[in-house]
Amino acid sequence: MPCIATSARPLLLHGSLITFRRRCGKASCRCATGDPHESPALTFTEGGRTKTMTLKSSEVAEVAAALARYEQAQADLEARAVAGIASLRTRRLLRDRRSGR
Ligand SMILES: [Zn+2]
Repeated sequence: MPCIATSARPLLLHGSLITFRRRCGKASCRCATGDPHESPALTFTEGGRTKTMTLKSSEVAEVAAALARYEQAQADLEARAVAGIASLRTRRLLRDRRSGR
């Protein structure tokens, strides 16, 4: 069942964790003259556009872990691709030697 498989997988996210600062626009609010409101947020690209999703503080740790998971997976993939080039080079070198060039 695909929905069970999906929910069992750890969350994976590609984006950045930022602190979103904004002024709410209410003239009477402290943010009108003082510090803007701050909330943790995730920025990500969707359909070629950068989007921001504000997060609940309870979500920050999980989102940070999901971003780290993506970074690790990307680094692993990149390392495999680098090893792939080395492997291809070696294979060609051995083949060239065998054919006497
Ligand atoms: Zn405000």
